[in-house]
Amino acid sequence: MKKENEKKIKVSFPHMGTIHIAWEAGLRKIGVEPYTPPYTNKKTLSYGTKNSPEAVCLPYKLILGNFIEAIEGGADYVAMITSPGICRLGEYGCNIQSTLKDLGYDANYIELSLYDGIRGLYNFLAKISGKNDPIRIMRAINITIRKIFAIDDLDSALSYYRAREINFGDAEKNYKKALKYIADVESTLDLKSAYNKALAEIEKTEIDKNKEVLYVDLTGEIFLVNDEFSNQYIERELGRMGVQTRRSLTVGSFLKDAIIPKAFQSKETHLQRAEKMAKPYLNRDIGGDALECVSDVVFAKKKGKDGIIHISPFTCMPEIMSQNIFPTIKEDHNIPLLTLIMDEQTGRAGYITRLEAFVDLMRRKKRAETMKGKEAEKVK
Ligand code: SF4
Repeated sequence: MKKENEKKIKVSFPHMGTIHIAWEAGLRKIGVEPYTPPYTNKKTLSYGTKNSPEAVCLPYKLILGNFIEAIEGGADYVAMITSPGICRLGEYGCNIQSTLKDLGYDANYIELSLYDGIRGLYNFLAKISGKNDPIRIMRAINITIRKIFAIDDLDSALSYYRAREINFGDAEKNYKKALKYIADVESTLDLKSAYNKALAEIEKTEIDKNKEVLYVDLTGEIFLVNDEFSNQYIERELGRMGVQTRRSLTVGSFLKDAIIPKAFQSKETHLQRAEKMAKPYLNRDIGGDALECVSDVVFAKKKGKDGIIHISPFTCMPEIMSQNIFPTIKEDHNIPLLTLIMDEQTGRAGYITRLEAFVDLMRRKKRAETMKGKEAEKVK
C-alpha cells in the first residue's frame, strides 16, 4: 500500500477515549504515519449526525464524524474495526464506506475483523504497511497492547486520586501529563520506566485520604464506557462527587478476550467470568457487551461495591436486552443500579441531576448500613 513517491501513507482511526496513543505507537512501528483526527467534539458529532440514519447508535455517528475530520485533515486511509456478530457493528463498515463515497471523500477504507483475533490484527498491519515483516509487525502488536494495559492502569490511578483530591481538577491535570510519558515512548523496553514516571505524576495530586468515598462500577457498551465525550465525562462528574469508579469493560479486558491468545493468559478473562456469572439470567451471547453487563452487576455486588452504572447508546439492541434483565437481578442482589441511555439529544443538566440523585441514594444507603452494623456491635 505504499504510494509511488514513497511518501509515508497516513492512516487514521476513530477515537475511543485514549486508544489513539496505542494505535499511534503500533502504526509508527510498521513505518506508517498515524493521523489522529481532533478528539471527538461537537463538530464531530454534528458531522456524524447530519450524515447518519437517525436511529443508528451514537458510536456509529461519532466514528463517521471522526473519519470525515480525518480525511479533511489529509488521511490516506481510514481504519475501522468490524465484527460479523449479532449486533449492528458488522453492518457499519459498508454503511460508513458508502456514506464517505456519497459525500465525495476520497480515502481508502480498511477493516480489522475482531473475530480473527491476533491473526486478524497481524494481517491488518501487514496490509497497511504493504510488507509482511513478522518481526516488525509483532513488535507493533506488542507495543500497542502494552500501552493499552499501561493506560488502563493509569485510568484506575486517576479514578482513585480524583475521588479524593483536595483541589478539583488536579488529578486530571496530572493524568494528562502522565499520558504524555506513555505517548512519547517508542519501545517496549522503555515503557516500564515511562509508566513509573507517569504514575508518579498522578501521585503528586494532593488528596484527603480520610474522605468518605463511594465505589461504583461502570458497565455498558464498551465504546460509551471508555469514551469520555460520548459518556459526557461521567467519571469526572462522579469523581467531583467523591466517587471512585472502576470500568468493568476496558480496552485491555477486551484485548484479553478478543485478541490475545488464551495460552498467554493465566487469569480468567472478563468474558469467561461473564459466562459463569450471567448464567441464571442470560445463557448465551446476544451481541455487543450484554453478557458481560449482566454479569457485571452480580460481580459488583460480590465485590461489595456501593453501586453500578450501566451506560448504553440509544437503540443499542444488546443493551436494551440487558436493561430488561436488570430488574430480576436487582431482586436477587440488593445493589443500587442506574441505567443511562445516551444519544446526541442527551441534555447535560438532567444527566447531572440523575447522577447526583444516584450518588445521594448510595451514600444514604451506605451510612444506614454502617449505622446498623454499629448498632449490632453494641448488642453483642
Ligand atoms: S453494541 Fe450497540 S452501540 Fe455498539 S455497535 Fe452494537 S448496536 Fe451499536
